[in-house]
Amino acid sequence: RQGLWEKALEVLNIITQHGFEAFIIGGAVRDFHLRRRIHDVDIATSASVDEMKTMFPKAKQLSKHFPTCLVIYQQEAFEVTTYRSENKTLTADLLHRDFTMNAMAIDRKTAIIDPFGGKTDIKQQIIRSVEPAKRFKEDPLRMIRAVRFMAQLDFSIEPGTHECLLKHRPLLEQLPAERVQAECGKLLMGDDHRDALTYLFCCDIPAFFPKAIRPVSIHARKHSYNYDMQPLITAEERWAAFLWLLYGKEAKQMPKKWRFSNRDKQKLIVILSFAEAYPETIPWNKQLIYQTGLTLALQVERLHQWLYDHTKKERFVYIQSVYRTLPITSREELRINGKDILATVPLIKKEKIGDVLRQLEHKVVEGSVKNDRQELVTFVKEKLHNER
Ligand code: ATP
Ligand code: MG
Repeated sequence: RQGLWEKALEVLNIITQHGFEAFIIGGAVRDFHLRRRIHDVDIATSASVDEMKTMFPKAKQLSKHFPTCLVIYQQEAFEVTTYRSENKTLTADLLHRDFTMNAMAIDRKTAIIDPFGGKTDIKQQIIRSVEPAKRFKEDPLRMIRAVRFMAQLDFSIEPGTHECLLKHRPLLEQLPAERVQAECGKLLMGDDHRDALTYLFCCDIPAFFPKAIRPVSIHARKHSYNYDMQPLITAEERWAAFLWLLYGKEAKQMPKKWRFSNRDKQKLIVILSFAEAYPETIPWNKQLIYQTGLTLALQVERLHQWLYDHTKKERFVYIQSVYRTLPITSREELRINGKDILATVPLIKKEKIGDVLRQLEHKVVEGSVKNDRQELVTFVKEKLHNER
């Protein structure tokens, strides 16, 4: 983003003028060297949270358990964290980071501090931990982060780090599912997810996932599988593919255990249900497309074609054209609502109203009743009259 880097350097200047140390650290320094787009800039400082609040009165501590403040400077947000180490030095802070490429700092004059050879490793495209055994024991998530960075950066894991990862895989069990989810999501969206997934499965890493999300057996699937998710566009589609890969027909039960938000959970369940219900082709028609909605229907179809290995562009065109001709795209577009029905037939049982609306939707989508207030009212009256 334009000016992001310059503004970050100004924040460093302000902190330094108050007599503290401050550096840009972590992913931003790595991405700067890789000439990749920088999406956010994190800052480490010798100043405490209280001292930050003196320098930046509007700074907010993000969690009371962690000395990170959100500092807004000229409309840009920066996470400023007190050195994460007891003796409060930059080098000690960097030592606690996951990989050499993430353990560099840049000062306000853009001089680079690189005590562990991160720059060389970046040049050689290597993911290396200085003390992998110690680092992986401290936080097993780092093992999955390594694979995630493979997917994002097309780097490989240095042999010593790899050996150590194999040895310490069982520690993954202790992780909360949501942390694993966050890293796997980034992995799946990475340009080089194919190599990363191959690595993940070859090393049998999912066999050491926390109990709740551990697949029973992926052995039969792992060698014959297509890890190239390029044709899948959205995160939901890739997640559905990944869950299918891990759990096969049990996949539908898994979004909950992976702790997805309710919204994502619902979408994933729909996509996976279609995959399970239709091993051949999905019999799209007006009703099915209406109920699924355009975006989700296209996602469903994309995953389906990928899973069952057929490419039929015309099916996307078909879904879109049917959707375009639908008289309504949601219940809200019906020219009648629950209140109207109650006014038309005051004696109707309240629990029946939903039923009537569903039937109206069906008729209107089918085209046998027009979405016209008068016609809808007439239909409701006749229908309920016949039912008496
Ligand atoms: P991204 O571009 O995805 O944000 P990132 O490197 O910034 O990548 P974050 O998860 O945002 O990754 O973490 C920021 C920095 O904090 C990392 O670069 C790393 O130095 C450090 N870090 C994050 N998580 C860990 C961890 N589990 N163990 C050690 N260091 C970590
Ligand atoms: Mg980051």
